[in-house]
Amino acid sequence: MAVTGWHRSTWAEVDRAAIRANIQNEQAHLPENVALFAVVKADAYGHGMLEVAKTAKEAGAKGFCVAILDEALALREAGFDDFILVMGAVPQAFAGLAAQKQIAVTVFDIEWLTGLAPLPMNLDVHLKVDTGMGRLGVRSMEAVREIEAEIAKREDVTLEGIFTHFATADQLETSYFEKQLACFRQVVASMAVRPALVHCANSATALLHEQADFDAVRFGISMYGLTPSPEILSALPFDLRPALSLYTEMVQVKELMPGDHVSYGATYEATECEWVATLPIGYADGFIRAYAGFLVSVEGVLMPIIGRVCMDQCIIKLPCEYPVGTKVTLIGGPNSADVAARYLNTINYEVTCLLSERVPKKYIH
Ligand SMILES: *Cc1c(COP(=O)(O)O)cnc(C)c1O
Repeated sequence: MAVTGWHRSTWAEVDRAAIRANIQNEQAHLPENVALFAVVKADAYGHGMLEVAKTAKEAGAKGFCVAILDEALALREAGFDDFILVMGAVPQAFAGLAAQKQIAVTVFDIEWLTGLAPLPMNLDVHLKVDTGMGRLGVRSMEAVREIEAEIAKREDVTLEGIFTHFATADQLETSYFEKQLACFRQVVASMAVRPALVHCANSATALLHEQADFDAVRFGISMYGLTPSPEILSALPFDLRPALSLYTEMVQVKELMPGDHVSYGATYEATECEWVATLPIGYADGFIRAYAGFLVSVEGVLMPIIGRVCMDQCIIKLPCEYPVGTKVTLIGGPNSADVAARYLNTINYEVTCLLSERVPKKYIH
């Protein structure tokens, strides 16, 4: 069982007003009839699925996209009666459960469909076309036609949508993107019947490319106020508002003498008399060991993490003595998830997804 640390001085703060603003700005940027589906997979990219889903719905999201069936079931369990699409592969054995809960699932090849036992009630499916991502989806017009024909034969399956996913939408160079888009348009045009929901856009596509001939966008990372890539930051149509900040407090403050060491391996050695503070956050919280040396912010002053990050704790070097209880910003403000991502040599998506359930989330606004 995952335990959440409600009685500890480390927490993530999620600004619901920021999420609402990002959704409303994107909705205003989209043509009127294009629906925004909030992508809340992976515990809403570490922001907390149920609170984010509630907030997204308030802001006008018309439904949700998730990666696995259990995420969809958790939304239904919590009372959300909105459209939900599982974008990943659902084992056929659970197609009946999806149908019963009115959760749309993804069809990505003919075998998935022909192997499906008769269902107790209608199952809505979205056909995934692999136009160049090389991940899930059918790869030819023939396969699309075959699946269309197979669905037409069945009373228990409805082809509600068709979609694709771009590999390079977050890059300024668009030739690969254009090729995928042209391929998808061609596939849709060749269908016997155009499904009700034709969609292709992730955040980067929804922000940078016209959506007039599509019915919905799958808005993920930028709903959380983060750019799909640093490269397109200056090309975004509006300012994104990051929703998540990560805070902790100094639980012990001490003075080291020259030659004193810090943390496992005793890799850090004080060269002079210096003040350090112990912070109650570590790699088991998603504040991984690669954060060693990262600069965190205390009242606007940047201070380094010294020595190794432990499972539950780490240590920072202070410029002077600070009172126990002083608040420390690990992620947030100028110390954005983008800054952390650059330091960790990864992407902002991973920075927030890493946060474990042990970190409590506090929702403001
Ligand atoms: C995760 C995911 C998205 C959302 O992408 P963002 O870049 O976070 O907006 C959209 N579509 C598919 C298929 C996905 O897996």
